[in-house]
Amino acid sequence: MNRTKDSSTSLRIAIQKSGRLTDKTIDLLHGIGVEFDNYKRNLMVKTRNFDVELLLLRDDDIPEYVQDGVCDLGFVGANEVLEQNANVSILRGLNYGNCRLSVAAPKNGKLKQAKDFEGKTIATSYPYLTQKFFKEQGVTIDIVEISGAVEITPQLEVADAISDLVSTGGTLRANGLQELFTIIESETKLIQTNKELSPGKQQLIDKFMVRIDGYQQASKSRYIMMNAPQDKVEMIKSIIPSMKSPTIVPLAETTMVAIHTVIPYGKFWEVMEELKDAGASDIVMLPIESMIL
Ligand code: AMP
Repeated sequence: MNRTKDSSTSLRIAIQKSGRLTDKTIDLLHGIGVEFDNYKRNLMVKTRNFDVELLLLRDDDIPEYVQDGVCDLGFVGANEVLEQNANVSILRGLNYGNCRLSVAAPKNGKLKQAKDFEGKTIATSYPYLTQKFFKEQGVTIDIVEISGAVEITPQLEVADAISDLVSTGGTLRANGLQELFTIIESETKLIQTNKELSPGKQQLIDKFMVRIDGYQQASKSRYIMMNAPQDKVEMIKSIIPSMKSPTIVPLAETTMVAIHTVIPYGKFWEVMEELKDAGASDIVMLPIESMIL
């Protein structure tokens, strides 16, 4: 599957058709101003306001489509990119779809350390990464490649242990398995083909990256507003060190001002009490849609 010549100007982006990464990827694309609909019914969707088409694929097909230049960009879990050892560039980590590929074995069994796995059979959908991990430990294992319900294979005596994606660990525990080693940590990545792109497409990608960075920055930040006595402004500024240059707005009551600023999300809850103790009142926190720095 090779796209021989990059003659088209329209950017093709691969996303997961239906699955864990789909909703957040769609939200992100809408959040950066890419307009489209009907993505549930079609395999290819034209966007309304950009020269961009979306290709809706199975997540394990995405690295290859991007590697071969059939798609220029793709949103896909690092787990798939690494398992397929895909020749693509990772542009950004997007901090959703977070999980890890871990080795797990029956809780009350004898498999605890890597060396205990010598000659054992491991069921997984990730044969390349699992084999590589044990090879690096100097341990020889056999792989049974399975595409789903990997966690029941030890009970069925199909395998001694498994290597599978984990996020909370609940599925492992429910199947009497204990997580032993992490092979890789994963999150959704934005990947780009390493095939040469036309200048027009590269420009569009650069434009996209500015928007994605703005969107990500905004999702990590909050806009806060509060009222405070004029003479407490310096103290309030010292409570939030990132608040170097807040907007100070005079209020009808001349001894009071309104302070507006942007702070990292999370910081708000840490400092809210301190702000109140310093004299701030009517504190309001708002989400931000995008931030271009
Ligand atoms: P799906 O095909 O809908 O199960 O989506 C699979 C993708 O979601 C994986 O390739 C991972 O990138 C991501 N993911 C995040 N957490 C998990 C998890 N606990 N199990 C499987 N996949 C996960």
